[in-house]
Amino acid sequence: MTERTLSIIKPDAVGNNHIGEIIARLEKKGLKVVGAKMVHLNEQKAQQFYEVHKERPFFKDLVSFMITGPVMVMALEGNNAIKEYRDVMGATNPKDAASGTIRADFATSIDENAVHGSDSKENAEKEISFFFKPEELLSRTR
Ligand code: ATP
Ligand code: MG
Repeated sequence: MTERTLSIIKPDAVGNNHIGEIIARLEKKGLKVVGAKMVHLNEQKAQQFYEVHKERPFFKDLVSFMITGPVMVMALEGNNAIKEYRDVMGATNPKDAASGTIRADFATSIDENAVHGSDSKENAEKEISFFFKPEELLSRTR
């Protein structure tokens, strides 16, 4: 089933100049970029994006980290894109991430873990529309 999912290359990975290597892994998996931009989130935007985690003990640190530098946000499309992308991302804690995954190779800690990916179809739709207007999402005609 063709799906779309939201990817964020987080400030640590952008700062380490790993944008290209991360996108290369997505493309090798068959995921297609259908929307992309760089943004520097402010505190309010980051809090809004991570609203589901607002009661968690790490919420404040997560928001602070996400506003330390620009991020690259992308809408990805592909067969089972949500799961395919989460597989290539690896576990939340890079210590637990399988070798060859993005987090195993580019993340330094659970706090600075290189990438975000939507975890369900419902959240993917919400998260994509959080960052992209409909006309910023393109049909991959080739
Ligand atoms: P993401 O939502 O970023 O794709 P995820 O779905 O693997 O990651 P979540 O449980 O949704 O993980 O947590 C969101 C983010 O919050 C994580 O990516 C991580 O940066 C941070 N986080 C999660 N758990 C912890 C924790 N125990 N300590 C510190 N930070 C955490
Ligand atoms: Mg999550």
